[in-house]
Amino acid sequence: MVVDGAVFASASFKDHEQVVFCNDAETGLKAIIGIHDTTLGPALGGTRMWNYENELEAIRDVLRLSRGMTFKASISGLNLGGGKAVIIGDSRKDKTDALMQKFGEYVNSLSGRYITAEDVGINTHDMEMVKMKTDHVTGVPISMGGSGDPSPVTAYGVFMGMKAAVQYKFGTDDLNGRKVMVQGIGHVGETLVKHLTEAGADVIINDIHMDRMEEVAAKYQAKIFAGDVFEADFDIYAPCALGATVNPQTIDRLKASIIAGAANNQLADEWRDGTTLKTKGILYAPDFLINAGGLINVNSEIAHYDREESLRRTENIYDTTLEIFRKAELDDITTHQAALTIAKDRISAIKAARN
Ligand code: NAD
Repeated sequence: MVVDGAVFASASFKDHEQVVFCNDAETGLKAIIGIHDTTLGPALGGTRMWNYENELEAIRDVLRLSRGMTFKASISGLNLGGGKAVIIGDSRKDKTDALMQKFGEYVNSLSGRYITAEDVGINTHDMEMVKMKTDHVTGVPISMGGSGDPSPVTAYGVFMGMKAAVQYKFGTDDLNGRKVMVQGIGHVGETLVKHLTEAGADVIINDIHMDRMEEVAAKYQAKIFAGDVFEADFDIYAPCALGATVNPQTIDRLKASIIAGAANNQLADEWRDGTTLKTKGILYAPDFLINAGGLINVNSEIAHYDREESLRRTENIYDTTLEIFRKAELDDITTHQAALTIAKDRISAIKAARN
């Protein structure tokens, strides 16, 4: 990607306003903060800690994730811009309080242009550490006056989006007896499993950690599938781990007729893969639309946290998802394009009004 100095022209570097590299030898912190677009407000997005194969993979991830946040905030009607951060390392082994505090110092140096929160590998305790160095942080523990872990609200929104997809596809939003594969049963995945079990769905779970699968399976009577998920049979695919799991290799083998999950950037290539899904009649609930519950929740923490209001706004994801499906059908475009158009139009309208 970053070949011959071609950063600004690269495919991932799509209109980003600022990218910050954070390097601290003492704590071992290696982080990248991506600020994509602040037209609607300060860039808010979680921090991901992941053991990337190489640094370019981390750069690509932060660029894709921060861009997605711009459209997530916009389509959710929030006055927030798009940003995200990644910390390079294994969260189970390399994460320390000192490292998170140092990261907080870097966030603080941006004077509020970027506000952080939780993502993969990061929890409320980590946000407590960040809070020691900056006020530009959300998802802080409830005991400290914050909104706590955003993932239950994210899971609720995903559940709403999935129900809307089932309604659109089958004419009823009843999940009773539907076979759902939840891939990645971390913070969001586990709560999604809970909602699905309560709704009577036949839930199959998959994760890279067997201990997690056994724990969640025992709690909710879900079935464990330890192999390649695309070899399994199910009606609904809920990607709740990392992105890019929907690509030419997997679409070909996917037997489900609906994709609705929490993971960011599920489509490896949004235009190519979105079009293939449309052609094959697989209904895709756009990720940045249905996983916005957590963002809605942490946004509420900035002014005055109101959980009921956050849940009510998150419930609206059901209606918005249906609207997007109708628009996509009417305009003969992919569901991803339909959602993106609405998100981009709002940003353009605000820009035009300002000018
Ligand atoms: P998490 O770290 O709590 O959980 C991720 C889970 O995925 C872990 O259990 C991990 O072992 C598993 N996993 C990783 N790679 C896998 C693979 N290849 N196959 C199967 N399982 C795998 O993260 P989370 O907060 O639950 O977030 C999950 C996804 O949802 C991420 O893509 C995140 O960006 C997205 N998301 C999260 C939130 C939120 O509120 N936490 C909000 C919006 C979007």
